[in-house]
Amino acid sequence: MEEAALVLIVSPLMGHLTQSLELSKLILQRSNHISIEVLIMKVPTDPEGTAKIQSLVAATDVEHLHFHHLPTPEDTSKWSTTNKGTFLHQLINYQKPHIRNLVSNIKGLSGLIIDLMNTTMIDIADELGVPTYVFLTSGAAFLGLVLHFQTVQDEHNLELPELFDISNELHIPCFSNPVPRNVLPTITTNKETWSVRTLNYARGYRKAKGIMVNTFGELEAFALNSFLNDSFYKSRLPPIYPVGPILKRFETRTKNSRDTIEWLDGQQENSVVFLCFGSMGSFNLDQVKEIADGLERSGHRFLWVLRQAPANKGGFPGEFEDHGLVLPEGFLDRTASIGKVVGWVPQLAVLSHPAVGGFVSHCGWNSTLESIWCGVPIATWPLFGEQQLNAFQLVKELGIAVEITLDYNEANEHQPLVRAEQIEKGIRELMDGANEVRRRVKEFSDKSRLAMKEGGSSYLSFDNVIQNICSNH
Ligand code: UDP
Ligand code: UDP
Repeated sequence: MEEAALVLIVSPLMGHLTQSLELSKLILQRSNHISIEVLIMKVPTDPEGTAKIQSLVAATDVEHLHFHHLPTPEDTSKWSTTNKGTFLHQLINYQKPHIRNLVSNIKGLSGLIIDLMNTTMIDIADELGVPTYVFLTSGAAFLGLVLHFQTVQDEHNLELPELFDISNELHIPCFSNPVPRNVLPTITTNKETWSVRTLNYARGYRKAKGIMVNTFGELEAFALNSFLNDSFYKSRLPPIYPVGPILKRFETRTKNSRDTIEWLDGQQENSVVFLCFGSMGSFNLDQVKEIADGLERSGHRFLWVLRQAPANKGGFPGEFEDHGLVLPEGFLDRTASIGKVVGWVPQLAVLSHPAVGGFVSHCGWNSTLESIWCGVPIATWPLFGEQQLNAFQLVKELGIAVEITLDYNEANEHQPLVRAEQIEKGIRELMDGANEVRRRVKEFSDKSRLAMKEGGSSYLSFDNVIQNICSNH
């Protein structure tokens, strides 16, 4: 049988890319007749991110998986840089003709796999007469939310702000609780972002031949059932396949990561609180001071990933050469025996270490899945994107997190500080109390592992995707 070629198109975000590569490996493990061509985009203004992508590509040596590097735009001075998502949106549009060129020369092309931002590539698939599959690196509830707003707008002719109606709480079929307005992601509430980007992404999801979601049936049963049963979604949707949790299985073996794991080896079980805010999280100096104070006041052992805020709004964070310069005077000395402040660490390895008992997280979807997989409860501190919604889901819908904050308004340039007292309280609750939360997260951890095993819910769902893909050829 001739090989069927799939093309994977992903935005240059570590979370999206790592998950998509893991997805590709799973597809290749399950079928001998597929090859996957991965198109790699890079952000010219993010050298550190580019270096990480390059090391990820270099470390990925898999038969039938091939990389193609797209050109890096030379002059982006006229692009909007105030918002990372908009910048990436422009990068994706810039790449479209290059991608059209590349894809139309691929022999045996049988479909595209795109991430949630690349729906514009469906045009190319249509021109070439092949189907598109979306791989959603966020949860099913997020998918349901954007599809809900898109339906309200397209079928009921409502626009922002009527979209959210006048009440402060929204009834959205994929949530069992009313959703407060202040946890709605900015990509749905900001007029321009919604109309230029998110609305079109949502329309794109409906045009796909299938949507794979990095989640598992046992975790998001309510949202997934709503897709099947609620008239709002039913019959207007392609099949939805929960295929996760798909986690990053690669690790950069840096000195930093070896030191960190060695330090954890010397700590008692469940004694360390881990603070990490994803690939884009960073704070101004006032906020850094509040975190340091909150940690000291809590008295808990800690491992804190602290990265440098970008010089320009919309930029990407970098690594500090010397954390001592940004921390309160004497902090590192006073906490030397109980804590460690570090740069980028292999998060999954840290979360799976028995010494880690709690996770202060921005609730990015990868971090959420990783903490569930490892059975580590979260204290929520969302920063942007759909993270507020994830935090709400973790605390209110699933009961597997405690709250430091649920509220972050990206549009507000002057963020209120999250005070040391609030951070201390959240950490104490996470590490000293929260027994029911800890029990529940362990339960979901077991279920997540079963879901991926042969015969498990995501394993079976994946079989259906493969069958669907192979039927195109
Ligand atoms: N990550 C990591 N080390 C760090 C920070 C992040 O390994 O110091 C990984 C983390 O394990 C996760 C990904 O980067 O897989 C971040 O993805 P997530 O969706 O949580 O957040 P985003 O970066 O998209 O905001
Ligand atoms: N892991 C890692 N480095 C380590 C230990 C674990 O990257 O030093 C990753 C590993 O790839 C796995 C995840 O962390 O995906 C959870 O590891 P664990 O041993 O808890 O579970 P497993 O997947 O082996 O059942």
